Amino acid sequence: MPTLAVYPGSFDPLTNGHVDIITRGARLFDRIIVAILVNAEKAPLFTMDERVEIARDGLQGPCATSKSTPSTACSSTTSSGARRRSIVRGLRAVSDFEFEFQMALMNRRLNAEIETVFMMPAEQYTYISSRLIKEVFSLGGRVHGLVPDMVEERLREKVASRRLTSRRDR
Ligand code: ADP
Repeated sequence: MPTLAVYPGSFDPLTNGHVDIITRGARLFDRIIVAILVNAEKAPLFTMDERVEIARDGLQGPCATSKSTPSTACSSTTSSGARRRSIVRGLRAVSDFEFEFQMALMNRRLNAEIETVFMMPAEQYTYISSRLIKEVFSLGGRVHGLVPDMVEERLREKVASRRLTSRRDR
């Protein structure tokens, strides 16, 4: 039976930690859908459309893209019919564990047939989060090698346009 995994998250923006998990997931599952979600508790820097566009561009290479929005898909094979389904989440440190554990059990309660699979990124990405990337970048720090090159470019554009808007508003 073909295997399908959904990797949900805010991806605001996509980092090399996310890409690492997706690349590992693509080796395990026939198809992995990167589901870019609205998180009511977070005020995103990038709009949903921008995050989808970034994921589509940033995942070229190991991943094919699908036309479905707002998800982007990375797959090795596609097939219709029944599939074994999983949720993929990344675990960086013990601090991720408590929240992820609660979510996995709640998701199991909601649908006992879906398993959550936790994956660890390569060591060099374990300390990266989208939040930290945004913070470091906005303070003028280097994020090269921690995000896909095009994300760096997008961050530059976004920060420049925000500065322009705030200058105009003064
Ligand atoms: P969320 O709002 O769900 O936390 P994120 O985009 O921050 O969205 O994270 C999505 C998933 O990716 C989560 O499972 C998170 O633990 C994982 N993740 C985030 N950054 C990394 C990283 N550097 N390495 C591995 N997994 C990560």
